[in-house]
Amino acid sequence: MMLRAPLCRSLCKWVPRRWWHAISLGLVTYITCTFVFTGHYYKNRQIATDSEAQPPDGLPRFIINSDSESKQMIKTNDSAVQSLVLKEKTFNASLAENHNQPNAKFNDDDGNDADDVDDSNEMKPREAAAENKRDIEKVKHEEVIAQPEEEQYPPLVFGDEGQGQMGEPVHIDEVNLHGDEKEKYKTGFSNNDFNEYASNLISVDRRLPDMRDPLCRNLTYPDPLPATSVIICFLNEAWSVLIRSVHSVINRTPPHLLKEIILVDDGSSHENLKKPLEIYMSKFPKVKILRNMQPEGLMRARILGAKFASGKILTFLDSHIECTADWLPPLLMRISMNSTRVVWPAIPGIDRKTFAFKTNVDAKVLQVGIFTWSLVYTWETPRLEDRATPISPVKSPTMPGGLFAIDRDFFFHIGTYDDGMSFWGAENVEISFRIWMCGGSIELIPCSVVGHIFRSRNPNSGGANSGKWTRNTLRTAVVWLDEYKHFYSRVSGRKLVNYGDVSARLQLRQRLQCRSFQWYLENVYTTAFLPKRATLSGLIHSNNNASFCIHGEYDQMNRLVLIRKCEKKYFHNQVFYVMPNDELRLISNCMDIGKGRPILYPCHRMKGNQDIRYTKNRTIYHPPSNTCLTWSKESDKPDFRGCDGGTRQEWFWEKVPWTDV
Ligand code: UDP
Ligand code: MN
Repeated sequence: MMLRAPLCRSLCKWVPRRWWHAISLGLVTYITCTFVFTGHYYKNRQIATDSEAQPPDGLPRFIINSDSESKQMIKTNDSAVQSLVLKEKTFNASLAENHNQPNAKFNDDDGNDADDVDDSNEMKPREAAAENKRDIEKVKHEEVIAQPEEEQYPPLVFGDEGQGQMGEPVHIDEVNLHGDEKEKYKTGFSNNDFNEYASNLISVDRRLPDMRDPLCRNLTYPDPLPATSVIICFLNEAWSVLIRSVHSVINRTPPHLLKEIILVDDGSSHENLKKPLEIYMSKFPKVKILRNMQPEGLMRARILGAKFASGKILTFLDSHIECTADWLPPLLMRISMNSTRVVWPAIPGIDRKTFAFKTNVDAKVLQVGIFTWSLVYTWETPRLEDRATPISPVKSPTMPGGLFAIDRDFFFHIGTYDDGMSFWGAENVEISFRIWMCGGSIELIPCSVVGHIFRSRNPNSGGANSGKWTRNTLRTAVVWLDEYKHFYSRVSGRKLVNYGDVSARLQLRQRLQCRSFQWYLENVYTTAFLPKRATLSGLIHSNNNASFCIHGEYDQMNRLVLIRKCEKKYFHNQVFYVMPNDELRLISNCMDIGKGRPILYPCHRMKGNQDIRYTKNRTIYHPPSNTCLTWSKESDKPDFRGCDGGTRQEWFWEKVPWTDV
């Protein structure tokens, strides 16, 4: 096999041939004993840990089963979980020692000028300082990972080798790939919606530029800070991408702040994420692996990780991330000052095609999390005036959810996740409402930077998972939105049905005496569109033909305003709002005069192009240009023209209150 050749070459340099059999035998015996011992040890320990880690009353108990129990429960179709945890043993004590060294910075003395790009602040992976040990390490992994179907276990690139160092892009000339290589490239993309082929060429320890705002470099953090358990859930993650995520945590986290890394396999089917992952990770004493027997969704996977975790702080990360220098202390510090704070890092994108990691995180342009009235997570640029300095923590109405740190006790106090949700989505909005409304707060921390591969589609969203996101948003709406749940329903076009049992979540809200959603809107998400504030809301009919109305797409930016048949079933296309500040809104978009033809554009509150008024003459009038909205005969696209008093410039309202059910 391909992987055997380099193995023998390297080993033969320092191992006399006659010892070879003895070493192989020893290694095999060792691995077997390790599995038997740790498997048994952890099965018992999990149960103990589970009972120690019980969340407060009223929360559903999550059972970690022994082997036989879980098989039984699977037969009965229960959402059973079998956890398998490995190690706290290592193949090689000296390697472990290496990984426990303080997280020192290394000089760039590799003589390679090409990557000497302003990396004075760059923290190099510890592996870089342990060249020899790494060679040994690599040899051992290659031996244990090698399997008949080699393509499932693409060889990893370590240390300073490979492409993409310092976050440089890796360009693959797809056209010139042939045969197997082309096939690998294509499957990599279609399986993951990112370029796995490129990732395989990049070191799992690649160095990264320091992308923080320069002001962050002068900060110091208190010592000691509480240590964290890092929890990474994954579902069929690409091998090199998952390994790089874990390496980036180990390489860039001071060991005394890292209690453990818990990998939660959410029922992956990829073969390389089973035994080979366990074998690979067994060299990292702090890495533990838990498994769901079948995909349960990231919410229950994270709850499982949290129950098992022993660190004071939980840090959740996605399985396709790269931590940068000093990423953790700024997060821990904020929580150590106030344990009800939930904090998340600045998250630059790792390019899904080239894996480039180059955008500087200019703290001034960071965006916080908000949501649309369909409960879709989205972003907003916070006002600079609200921040003491560009690098001060920023209050965030919601958080993106993949990457954040939270005090473990507080996580259980506020009710972890809604375990009636499944797959993916809306859980970040739900936990955000809950945190704010039940006594906590959420902050974006500009000086902590963790890259993430943002994708354009979720590779697991089809089949059995379709409809799950919608159900998750419904659960969020009925539990947290109070009277606004009807508004959500009309905006999203979803009936408030088929969301399962939410009684436990409503009880939780009651028990924690959480505040109202109105309070959240008035005190936290203060820039939200509040339909209550509108002086008038409803359909705008044309006086020329009353069955036609002004029509738009509430969640599409820059789209033309049109004239369409009136229909008021849902609020998102034709229910407009006249606001006291002379905006004509379609929820979060405003009618904007555009270039003569009106468009819908995010409201900017600066009047100008969006200074649009409904007058007593029934015109829709733009004072700065002294023009009126006109539906000309020839087109379904209205425009702004000189006001002439004709019926094509007259509009009347059919009132639709926002509370309309
Ligand atoms: N995930 C999971 N089970 C699921 C869906 C997702 O464990 O059913 C994991 C996934 O591998 C990732 C994290 O949860 O580490 C967040 O999912 P994803 O990255 O797809 O979400 P996005 O970042 O696109 O919002
Ligand atoms: Mn992700």
